[in-house]
Amino acid sequence: MINHRDTIFALSSGRPPAAIAVVRVSGPHARDAVMSLAGRLPQPRQAALLRLVSRSGEGSGVAPDRTVEPIDDALVLWFPGPRSETGEDTAEFQLHGGRAVVAAVLSALSRMDGVRPAEPGEFTRRAFENGKLDLTRVEGLADLIGAETEAQRRQAFLQLKGLLGERAERWRERLIEALALVEALIDFPDESDVSEKLLQPALAIAAELEGEIRDLLAGSHHSERLREGLTVAVAGPVNVGKSSIVNRLARRSAAIVSSYPGTTRDIIEVHLDLGGFPITILDTAGLRDADDPVEQEGVRRARARAEASDLVLWVTDATLKNPTPAAEMMGPDTPPVWVLSNKSDLVDGKEVGEGELAGGGCNVKYRISAATGASFDELVRGLAAYADQFFAGTESSIITRQRHRTDLLDCAEALRRAGVEGNGGREDIIAEELRLAARALGRLSGRVDVENVLDVIFRDFCIGK
Ligand code: GDP
Repeated sequence: MINHRDTIFALSSGRPPAAIAVVRVSGPHARDAVMSLAGRLPQPRQAALLRLVSRSGEGSGVAPDRTVEPIDDALVLWFPGPRSETGEDTAEFQLHGGRAVVAAVLSALSRMDGVRPAEPGEFTRRAFENGKLDLTRVEGLADLIGAETEAQRRQAFLQLKGLLGERAERWRERLIEALALVEALIDFPDESDVSEKLLQPALAIAAELEGEIRDLLAGSHHSERLREGLTVAVAGPVNVGKSSIVNRLARRSAAIVSSYPGTTRDIIEVHLDLGGFPITILDTAGLRDADDPVEQEGVRRARARAEASDLVLWVTDATLKNPTPAAEMMGPDTPPVWVLSNKSDLVDGKEVGEGELAGGGCNVKYRISAATGASFDELVRGLAAYADQFFAGTESSIITRQRHRTDLLDCAEALRRAGVEGNGGREDIIAEELRLAARALGRLSGRVDVENVLDVIFRDFCIGK
């Protein structure tokens, strides 16, 4: 269990060596930490160039012959709470980013009483707990740090600005207004025509909110997928050139983000940035009827991944008379399939297998060559356009996680049930549904029922954030 009276510190910038390293300290002893390291407190929120020193004998309780050793000249910033990122007293040291410099400062801090290294995400967690950020903004912050493409960055930035959290908060306020009306009705049941004055406006608010929430849900198709990216599986029989195609896609310097090579039987993923949208290309094992159990397992997994992806690139060999049709190997619920007729460099002009469109019902086909790169520009443009369409409007959507969708849907459902009860219905039931709806919105922004989601959300943060 984390002790919140502790003062925490961490290297908040990237791994040294670097030009500059940023070390942050937050908590009740932040002031002492600055005094000990820098000798004085800078003006709040103003940078001061100060010499940092390490005092040996620190934390021993006795201070016999303290030696003072200069560490570095650093920019020091002092943010007294509550006007700081975490809401606590916070200090920031901008050091020269050498390993030994950083190590000396971290070690001096760790020798101080009541000061300890921060857990991942602990600065942000304190900001959340001190009411500086709602949960949707915390998620936005995590996404902004994780964003690899422009579209992801834009979406995360909107989230960090609090678009969803603020909308949820406004909805919640209106719901509480509606609830107050119904509760007044429960308190004064015998007054004449109160029902019209109280229940109807309350139900009107509920119906309006339900409409707004359902509109938001309907308008944000695929938006949570922007965080993970569109998955495209490259599938087909062995030796048609799947790996060669994935390699060539990955080598397009503008496109590559990262790649994780697996074993030959495993699935290799390549992350591409196509037109600002994240695309994960999966190189699946050859889909064929294998006898070897290890291979069978590889094929089974490849098929499952292909079926779960957003698009399948079915690769065929242009030199074969009867290329394997995609339909033969794929299940009934496959995503859209594009056929890539590969090795076009080996056939002059018209390819041998042309005519029988190998996809079985698919109408997108590229004649490519992984060897020469022929038609890869067209393929990449096609993929980028597909991603653009898939993610249409999602960059500006404020729903970025399944969690958001679930809470909003819970809220809309409770409002619907309140509406079904309707005029003349039981007020206590209507009141209860409105309470459930408000609670769902409270969950969304992290006001209520947070414990079970907090660990999941903060686990993904890096140390120092
Ligand atoms: P996979 O089993 O489907 O992943 O196929 P590979 O990518 O391992 O390719 C199988 C063989 O075909 C290798 O020898 C490749 O060099 C070759 N190959 C792949 N693409 C092309 C191509 O476009 N043209 C030619 N001529 N050979 C290719």
